[in-house]
Amino acid sequence: MRIVLLGPPGAGKGTQAKRICETYGIPHISTGDLFRENMSKDTPLGKKAKEYMAQGLLVPDDLVVDMVEDRLTHEDVLAAGYGYLLDGFPRTVHQAEALCRINAKRDCELDFAINLDVPFDILIERVSGRRICPTCHATYHVKYSKPKVEGVCDLDGTPLYQREDDKVETVKKRIEVYQDQTEPLIEFYEDKQKIININGLQHMKDVFDNIEKILSGVN
Ligand SMILES: [Zn+2]
Repeated sequence: MRIVLLGPPGAGKGTQAKRICETYGIPHISTGDLFRENMSKDTPLGKKAKEYMAQGLLVPDDLVVDMVEDRLTHEDVLAAGYGYLLDGFPRTVHQAEALCRINAKRDCELDFAINLDVPFDILIERVSGRRICPTCHATYHVKYSKPKVEGVCDLDGTPLYQREDDKVETVKKRIEVYQDQTEPLIEFYEDKQKIININGLQHMKDVFDNIEKILSGVN
């Protein structure tokens, strides 16, 4: 099974990705991990990416495409019948077109682009309320998953902090960037009749049940 998972920051992509991959035995390929791996192993692609980042530049689309294409030749992807779940890729229509070409080389097609849909104001509340323990990395939420004592980790008593990325203004900007860049992708996959819109406001378990109902129609 070949899946692309779309959804703005805070839509709960990570949780769903994990469950889909466990259930269907496909590797979870996140662009973030892919970057870290290539850079820490100092691969030729990782070195190139470092050069851009060292200059404060964005890593160009084509380099990201090359990393994904390389990753899709790995054993776990092949063992899953050229199966994968991509998370964080494609981010642009240009990348989505590249993915079509990569699949076509294997005589394959994407099965689904799953879009986790959550309204803007709720995303902001979800993300900006997040608090993290710097010691054990446990995550809390000021409203939905409060620690026993305000501002302190239940497990080790360390004061919690808010990531720079999770501050309201930053979250707004991240979501706006996401919408500008990625919403054309939803149209792209709509045209190809690959899109599955899932209401991401439901409980995580119900989100997964919805996804599973649709995916079980395949294979
Ligand atoms: Zn802790």
